[in-house]
Amino acid sequence: MALEAHTSGNLTSYPDQYGHFGPYGGRFVPETLMTALLELEQQYAAAKKDPAFRNELASLLQEFVGRPTPLYFAERLTKELGGAKIYLKREDLLHTGAHKINNALGQILLARRMGKKRIIAETGAGQHGVATATAAARFGFQCRIYMGAVDMERQALNVARMRFLGAEVIGVTAGQATLKEAINEAMRDWVTNVRDTHYILGSALGAHPYPMIVRDFHRIIGDEARKQILQREERLPDLLVACVGGGSNAIGLFYAFLNDEGVRMTGVEAGGGGIIRGKHAARFQGGKLGVLQGTKTWLLADDDGQIELTHSVSAGLDYAAIGPEHSFLKDAGRVDYSYATDDEALAAFHKLASIEGIIPALETAHAIAEVIKVAPTMNPDQLIVVNLSGRGDKDVQQVASLEAEAGKVS
Ligand SMILES: *Cc1c(COP(=O)(O)O)cnc(C)c1O
Repeated sequence: MALEAHTSGNLTSYPDQYGHFGPYGGRFVPETLMTALLELEQQYAAAKKDPAFRNELASLLQEFVGRPTPLYFAERLTKELGGAKIYLKREDLLHTGAHKINNALGQILLARRMGKKRIIAETGAGQHGVATATAAARFGFQCRIYMGAVDMERQALNVARMRFLGAEVIGVTAGQATLKEAINEAMRDWVTNVRDTHYILGSALGAHPYPMIVRDFHRIIGDEARKQILQREERLPDLLVACVGGGSNAIGLFYAFLNDEGVRMTGVEAGGGGIIRGKHAARFQGGKLGVLQGTKTWLLADDDGQIELTHSVSAGLDYAAIGPEHSFLKDAGRVDYSYATDDEALAAFHKLASIEGIIPALETAHAIAEVIKVAPTMNPDQLIVVNLSGRGDKDVQQVASLEAEAGKVS
């Protein structure tokens, strides 16, 4: 692809006014949603400039959520792997247990500003549902969460949490009964109730302006990490690593460093049971260009354009499309994308837990798996910052049953 045609020198200047990241992104939605998207775009542009909005969000993030999160030197993991120094950006310490709350709170303040009364959202692993239900409870909104029936089973703990927080959780049984179907139902609800309802989309996905808004609410991760590593090491890191579902925690970490030439970045997709059709969710491994749920990007589809089945041990990475900005950054050669299989992620989950005393989310374990592969190939004077996007409490039951099934535990 002819990149120079699309990229200006400054990689942080995207999307353009139509929501395009080079050839990706845009707004592929039914006419009935255009008004809502345009309203959201205008309100967001105004909110971004409004000091009252920014201050309210900043103090919520500090006092309700627990920002800034530490940048923690993983001393024992570094020693064990015997290469680069590894730092963990501790988003797992945030209220509700993952980075998702940064975006949910930003969007709830937008919803209030727009005079909406009702919140809907989709959720995969349940983390975005929990974050949204939390934000809705905090601000007194009515809240409905759509979740695939299969994911509800994998993530029963998060379903209970959402219900305790006062949200209505609707199980979606269509198709594969995971995230894609949940998004379809949420979009259907939004089309019907668009006047009083705001849809809090949970990743850097969907139609413009969502990928931009979600990125902007998460860029605080990289803004903080950049300051913290400079303070600690007096230099920038050599490598950033983050797992990529839709891509919100990854772009949140990467964005502040995009124009720092010496900083390499790797996004880690879900390799599932291996790169075999239907067994993984690594869109850059055998994926193609297409349109899904409002945006043009890389996705997993067959020759007729039908969306393929996906699989990952982690519900939060189990989605057929990647956020459009990641497709753009891949073409630009700015970010490398690799993948970790279910087995590699599970091994990384155990390694971090037993060596560092931190149980990561299964999504996050994919990023750790990449670090386990690359850190030993680097020098001890090099630095890696990995985004610890969430904690593993939600996954404990699932990992325990997987291992019981595999006969590892009696
Ligand atoms: C949802 C989730 C992800 C994947 O979503 P992104 O938008 O790609 O960040 C990763 N890690 C955790 C802990 C999550 O909850």
